[in-house]
Amino acid sequence: MGDDCLFCRIVAGEIPATIVRETGTTLAFRDIGPKAPVHVLIIPKEHYVDVATLAQGDPGLAGEVLATAAAVAEDEGLTGDGFRLMFNTGPYGGQEVFHVHAHLLGGAPLGPMLA
Ligand code: 5GP
Repeated sequence: MGDDCLFCRIVAGEIPATIVRETGTTLAFRDIGPKAPVHVLIIPKEHYVDVATLAQGDPGLAGEVLATAAAVAEDEGLTGDGFRLMFNTGPYGGQEVFHVHAHLLGGAPLGPMLA
């Protein structure tokens, strides 16, 4: 991808972001419009459109995204009380940026998902 993908541009350093963790293959940065006291997005640096494409195309990389999310949850002090980790996928899933990203949300009770 590249020029027309927002998150590829964050990976390239062309758009600023508050990065909280980086590995060789993944990047975690704070969401610009946080929906919880802690709201971090975790992405693979390589462009995949959504979680289904990533999981089928490179399951190992999908695991690295999850491992980075778990490390950020620990760094942010979320592991005791818990957190939500989710991938919005496609239009019905509410996905707006088509570079796969996990939302890590926590720091307060979030309530039931489908209330
Ligand atoms: P989606 O709806 O695709 O699952 O989530 C996209 C997320 O990206 C939203 O929560 C939105 O606030 C976040 N976002 C959109 N543009 C930017 C940006 O330029 N920087 C950062 N850090 N987050 C962004």
